[in-house]
Amino acid sequence: DTKDDIEGLMKILVDPNERQGYAWIRMRIRKMWPKWVLAAGNLKEKQKLEKRRRKKILVHLGLLSKQSGWGFAENQFKGGPLGELVQWSDLICTLYVLGHQLTITSETYQLEKILSQLPAANSPCQSRTDLPVHIIYTDIVGLRQFKRYVKGGYGKFSCLLRIVDSFGTEPAYNLRMYAKAHKILTSWGGQDLLPQQFFTMFPHSPDNSFMGFVVEQHLNDSDVKGIKRENWALVYGKNDYMYENATRVSLYRGKDKYLNTIKKRLEVHGTVYVDEKAKTKRSYMPSFVTNHGLQKPEDFHILLRKSKIFVGLGFPYEGPAPLEAIANGAVYLNPKFSTPHSSKNIQFFKGKPTARELTSQHPYAELFIGEPYVYTVNMHNDTQVLKVLDKILQNKEFTSHMPYEFTEEGMLQRMNAYIEHQNWCQFQKQEAKWPPHSAISFVMGADGQSCKDACWQQGLICEPSHFLQINSARSMKQAKVDCSREDYVADIFYPGYDPHSNECVFQKEELLFSCVGQKTNFRRFCPCRNYIKGQTALCQECL
Ligand code: UDP
Repeated sequence: DTKDDIEGLMKILVDPNERQGYAWIRMRIRKMWPKWVLAAGNLKEKQKLEKRRRKKILVHLGLLSKQSGWGFAENQFKGGPLGELVQWSDLICTLYVLGHQLTITSETYQLEKILSQLPAANSPCQSRTDLPVHIIYTDIVGLRQFKRYVKGGYGKFSCLLRIVDSFGTEPAYNLRMYAKAHKILTSWGGQDLLPQQFFTMFPHSPDNSFMGFVVEQHLNDSDVKGIKRENWALVYGKNDYMYENATRVSLYRGKDKYLNTIKKRLEVHGTVYVDEKAKTKRSYMPSFVTNHGLQKPEDFHILLRKSKIFVGLGFPYEGPAPLEAIANGAVYLNPKFSTPHSSKNIQFFKGKPTARELTSQHPYAELFIGEPYVYTVNMHNDTQVLKVLDKILQNKEFTSHMPYEFTEEGMLQRMNAYIEHQNWCQFQKQEAKWPPHSAISFVMGADGQSCKDACWQQGLICEPSHFLQINSARSMKQAKVDCSREDYVADIFYPGYDPHSNECVFQKEELLFSCVGQKTNFRRFCPCRNYIKGQTALCQECL
């Protein structure tokens, strides 16, 4: 059954180094706890949550380990990145509330201790009933630690792994041999897991699983009820460098000018962390911005409720804050990138195992939410910015919007479905049982189209677990393609056929089945599934 005792969770969530690494996570969990308990109750009324097996789950936060060197622990109250900590907090709550037995670690010696209790090597995952763990959530740092420090080999539990990976890992970057041959191997990629074992922050590519997080909402809370919306634009950025007007890099040009334009209509406010020791340092924030300093999350939400507009500066990419703004009724001004940002042209994405191109600072807000909650604008075009501002300011309501997938209940529902159904430990290869066949349709893409786009065009989502089923001349025939030749090749485009020669090519390497691969003069054959509106990760029959 589900669990609602927070003190039990707090006992598990103790930093082994006593350096307050878990402080922000603990703070978030305490604050949101009543909502999690409520959400579990509501979900139980909608669907059966009894009769599930209580699983032993290990959560290893590599990012907080001393070795990671990322400074997450050190900077959690100094304007450092929080998106990852948001996601870990919410994952931990989800697993605990769903009633599973949790162990939380962040140092390698803890890992060694737990996993050394594994039963004899060489027994397939499936046959082990006495496993010390059934599922392991970690991140790439943690994965490296597993590979290095856990004795007895990592292979035997690799099928249990779920990697928290905010930006995602595409199949081409995941398969080491392929990435190497194509010169795209990075220190993040080449993990040779199933692409679905990577769990992303937003629904980026259907090759990975969408884990998400929860967007805090205080709509009905008494403390926000009386707050009046002022004529404010709140700038999105916890750090001074985000305001930098770096003319060296053409893609980042013009933030002063942009904020000056906004100032013509609204009072401009910010929440930039101020380092008292470095106060004399030059600041990039224009002097007309009223800086409130880095806020506690609850105070940040009050500022959002006082603001009409939340102004993106182009960085950070794809964070939680714009969704919080929208949930609090502020309209998000989302900078459009006329040249998309990706690992090809932006330092931040260099080495990230994805070729995904961002058309704006927040593609999810742009593509899944849109107007009237999100306006994606060219920040260098003053006329366009003013026009959009005038359109927004005419609106007196400032209603809030919250996609179900980002609520506590939505996250519980999605993660529970994954925990109950995703199983990568079958010893023998089998056709996928989940999502069920009834949710799947097969679609022949247009020439040069990826499966992600081909499915989307039909109102469906690419479902990589069903590729195996259509990887044969027989299924091509069912799709009315008479193959003039049949070939097996290891690349990210197959199965499919050349529409000019009718030559069919099938997939030789299962890890390369990919939703995003696309190739001119080639029509891909794609497995697609239906989805629940507001819960895109799940098919209608998936609950
Ligand atoms: N946040 C905060 N104080 C602030 C500004 C933001 O606590 O002054 C919180 C915000 O509520 C959000 C988190 O920081 O939950 C992450 O925000 P962001 O979108 O900036 O993502 P990041 O770049 O930190 O991953």
